[in-house]
Amino acid sequence: MTNRKSELETLRADLQARLSRYEAHQHREGGALEKDFEEQATQTQNDEVVDSLESETRAELTQVEHALERIENGVGDECESCGEAIDPRRLQVLPYTTVCIDCADD
Ligand SMILES: [Zn+2]
Repeated sequence: MTNRKSELETLRADLQARLSRYEAHQHREGGALEKDFEEQATQTQNDEVVDSLESETRAELTQVEHALERIENGVGDECESCGEAIDPRRLQVLPYTTVCIDCADD
């Protein structure tokens, strides 16, 4: 099987890099309140977009870390919910998943 663990580690590094970019964006605007209204409105919209990207990325990162933990514990191929083996094809497509297709919500 392809090295799912190293794939997840790469993904984790990528997500962490993205998160620090979002955080840098959020902190950058600290004292810049002298813009005209339109610019402020645009900025606020951007911040909202970045906010939702940030929480999405954070959720993804949590999931990746969780999957890595299960691999470390030797149960990375088992469904977290029912304990059955997860289809390897499913793991190939979704390396960060921890449930089988029957237990998945989506
Ligand atoms: Zn299951």
